[in-house]
Amino acid sequence: MADTQVLDAIIVGAGFAGMYTLHRMREAGFNARVFEAGDNVGGTWYWNRYPGARCDVESMEYSYSFDADLQQNWEWSERYATQPEILSYANHVADRFDLRRDISFNTRVTALKYQEANKRWLVTTDKNERVSTRFCIMATGCLSSINQPAFEGLENFGGETYHTGRWPHEEVNFSGKTVGIIGTGSSAIQSIPLIAENAKHLTVFQRTPNFSIPAHNQDLDPAFIEEIKSDYENFRSENRQMFGGFGARRAAYEDSVWDADNDKRHARFEERWSLGGLGFLRSFGDLSQSIEANDIAAEFVREKIREIVDDPAVAETLCPEGVIGCKRLCVDTNYYATFNRENVQLIDIKNEPIETLTEAGLVTGGVEYQFDAIIFATGFDAMTGSLQRINIEGRSGLTLKEKWAAGPRTYLGLSISDFPNLFTISGPGSPSVLSNMIVTIEQHVNWIMDCLVFMRDEALTTIEAEPQAEEGWVNQGNELANMTLMPKCNSWYLGANVPGKPRIFMPYVGGIPLYFETCERVAANRYEGFAFSAKA
Ligand code: FAD
Ligand code: NAP
Repeated sequence: MADTQVLDAIIVGAGFAGMYTLHRMREAGFNARVFEAGDNVGGTWYWNRYPGARCDVESMEYSYSFDADLQQNWEWSERYATQPEILSYANHVADRFDLRRDISFNTRVTALKYQEANKRWLVTTDKNERVSTRFCIMATGCLSSINQPAFEGLENFGGETYHTGRWPHEEVNFSGKTVGIIGTGSSAIQSIPLIAENAKHLTVFQRTPNFSIPAHNQDLDPAFIEEIKSDYENFRSENRQMFGGFGARRAAYEDSVWDADNDKRHARFEERWSLGGLGFLRSFGDLSQSIEANDIAAEFVREKIREIVDDPAVAETLCPEGVIGCKRLCVDTNYYATFNRENVQLIDIKNEPIETLTEAGLVTGGVEYQFDAIIFATGFDAMTGSLQRINIEGRSGLTLKEKWAAGPRTYLGLSISDFPNLFTISGPGSPSVLSNMIVTIEQHVNWIMDCLVFMRDEALTTIEAEPQAEEGWVNQGNELANMTLMPKCNSWYLGANVPGKPRIFMPYVGGIPLYFETCERVAANRYEGFAFSAKA
């Protein structure tokens, strides 16, 4: 075992959150180091290299705002940037701010243990390094631990297997191959059209159909880029006023579905469908509150599916039931139309789950399907997975697993009582996945850094959420979620995709403006809801 390094802070993860935290730590004069399991920066965009991967928040918005020169100099090429372009951006940021010299790559943090005696954390990595640190910043990502269902016979399959969230770095060529893909979430919906063009035959195994809106992706017009860049600050600030921290340029209609007649509703939905993307959910103001209003929007999309897909039986199988936007809305290019291809087959496994994998393929409904390759597009152990995979032991030996046995509990999505000086970025209780995540990440990091500087100025050693403040935040989060339709389906927001995971609505649903305002108020009131300890 190597000697123990002593640091002010460790940052776990070198995605957009970890990179920005490191930059701010250096600026503020803290001695910090990042540990990253992968061999380079980028996080999500390092791991998710499947065909068709791209952002669904527009490129001019899905980028850092903290540095004026950076946002002026970087040029996005498409409305929705591809994974390679976003990864180049992450690398550009790492080079520009010389981040790599303080990042330990290929190094997984395996354990964090709080030591009462010196009020520091002892960090252990899979490289047998030991670090003593005052602060731990968990930039581990809310969609970074993959969900690999434990299908029976998994080890028996003799062909190639892939998971969309751990796609190889080398090019994968399916030409001449028969391919099966399990799952129809965003990752599958982005990749299926391209895999179908490449493979000899593609079989899609669908447990639950999803709502998807066309991206209408296009090259960015230089005049549009110029216009945004002429006042980027204002554009960023307008977006921060939006519920999700994006889309200020696209009006969020506030009127009710019930104030419009059939023609007006149809015209409005058509307008939003033609515009493309996540803004479809803002066609009317009551789509996320009223199940009846929501159903009108849902039916519009089902009608579109029936128009696009030639075979009526296939179209019906692709039509999602229930609430649109309850699961994360998908954004696609040619997804539904791909089912008109002769080399694509859809298998509904809702009532006939995958029984087993065999050497040649997989069995469902008593039928064996044979493949050269199987792709698991089965998503993530979202929001808590990456944190829970580290053995985190807080005050009095309490582990995070024990603390969160009935579901995650945080104060502001930033701090956990009994885990002093440990901060989470975009974890449970944060607007996180319901927002443009770069907006949320920048706010979290700025808030944490202000707090660390405050503590240094005031000679404070530890900060910790008070249990009542945490309880209040959890209750407020649940109340807000229950005012919406979001807890009404089996989504990963609720942990429903991972067998045995407690069913709790994890992200904060109050929206960016309310959340930011709350965090600012807490800080202005000398961090109300937090307890500090002074230097011994
Ligand atoms: P991540 O990018 O997930 O980085 C976390 C890093 O931590 C990873 O590199 C991981 O290897 C590392 N790590 C985790 N545990 C450990 C450990 N124990 N030790 C060492 N390292 C560890 N959000 C949007 O707002 N808009 C989008 O359009 C969008 N598109 C997405 C598309 C895909 C395919 C996916 C999966 C997510 C998308 N997201 C999107 C969400 C996306 O995760 C965030 O936008 C953002 O990239 C998260 O950055 P992060 O730094 O918080 O986490
Ligand atoms: P996901 O939305 O969780 O989808 C996983 C899919 O796998 C679902 O269709 C699920 O079915 C299916 N599945 C899981 N376990 C299964 C099992 N045992 N048997 C059969 N099917 C199973 O995961 P994802 O597609 O990777 O997306 C996760 C999130 O990442 C998105 O919601 C989004 O936030 C982000 N993302 C964004 C983009 C983008 O457009 N920018 C692209 C990709 C991902 P059920 O629905 O029945 O559980």
